[in-house]
Amino acid sequence: MSYVKGLRCRECGQTYPVGPISICSECFGPLEVDYDYDALRAAVSRFSIESGPPSMWRYRSLLPVDGQRVIDLGTGFTPLLRAENLGRELGLRNLYLKNDSVNPTYSFKDRVVSVAVSKAIEFGFDTVACASTGNLANSVAAHAARAGLKCYVFIPAGLEVGKVLGTLIYQPNLVTVRGNYDEVNRLASEVADRYGWAFVNINLRAFYSEGSKTLAYETAEQLGWKIPDQVVSPIAGGSVLTKINKGFRELLKLGLVEGKEPRVYGAQATGCAPVARAFKAGAEVVSPVKPATIAKSLAIGSPADGEYALRTVRRTGGYIDDVSDDQIVDGMRLLARTEGVFTETAGGVTVAVLRKLAEQGRLDVEGVTVAYITGNGLKTVEAIDGCLAGAPGAIEPRFEEFEKTLRQKEGA
Ligand SMILES: [Zn+2]
Repeated sequence: MSYVKGLRCRECGQTYPVGPISICSECFGPLEVDYDYDALRAAVSRFSIESGPPSMWRYRSLLPVDGQRVIDLGTGFTPLLRAENLGRELGLRNLYLKNDSVNPTYSFKDRVVSVAVSKAIEFGFDTVACASTGNLANSVAAHAARAGLKCYVFIPAGLEVGKVLGTLIYQPNLVTVRGNYDEVNRLASEVADRYGWAFVNINLRAFYSEGSKTLAYETAEQLGWKIPDQVVSPIAGGSVLTKINKGFRELLKLGLVEGKEPRVYGAQATGCAPVARAFKAGAEVVSPVKPATIAKSLAIGSPADGEYALRTVRRTGGYIDDVSDDQIVDGMRLLARTEGVFTETAGGVTVAVLRKLAEQGRLDVEGVTVAYITGNGLKTVEAIDGCLAGAPGAIEPRFEEFEKTLRQKEGA
């Protein structure tokens, strides 16, 4: 059993019983899972969490799943790495990386999908589906395979090979659509209405998105039950940033940590920066854009939770910035060179924005800073194929050949 009271509209407050719905029928606002925090406060302790499995499911009480069967590939409890080298380069004394590139399908999406597919089983669906920019496709296909459910995955044409292959290997029904993500999502919404499938990020969105809260829970636990001062999250649809914030607020509400919510900073690619643009313009509404960036996993021109991300960043005193494609590649290379972490373009966006924020003096240099690295670099090798130009030519298998190379390297 869970501590879920029901669903509540984020705009008008109308409540609904738990079901596969995500939109308020009164005002079309998004629905949010509502918990019984008084009961949770009595039931959940640091000890009860620490006694759980070494995965995101150690926070099961704080997730909206009632069924017996949870589809868990071992997602979560990913490393929180102290980043001294990168911190030194950026002038940040207490920098950490939450490395979600090492989840079962190599992105943070396993967190949301593990919840959504478990919920789909609980609701009795036999088919799971999604509209995806790539990472979600990988994760939904993998979890459907493990759950033994039928699977339909909708992606825009032109995705990176790693993301297409990383989906096909699980043998779902892959539907490639000539159009961008926003067009794919519109089509998928029509299919969801007609076929009654469990679309993890459409009709199960209220439950799905809750999985991202575990990024915050883990961060706090791994810091020794402390809240960071500032966090940097990428923004695609805007959901992960708002849910990281919700996760920290819940820990505070439940008395599991002390302090106050962190300042939340958002990162976008300049080629798809509708939320950054609205933030800088002081606007309350996010105007859609047509994406054109190498950060394809963040290429959502009409972000469903964009306005909530805006409000979260403004309320906490953070900032939202964006970086060019060249800066994204530099960010990927900087992270790999300084910390040994190979992230995809979305992680490059986060690191490049982190650098920009640090250079502009927008961050507290002494504060505990956590940057969320949400996906693996092997998914987006196209973005960095320029690196291959720097690869040295082959040498003959002779010792003196090696020594010649060494002398060149060392500049002797
Ligand atoms: Zn409503």
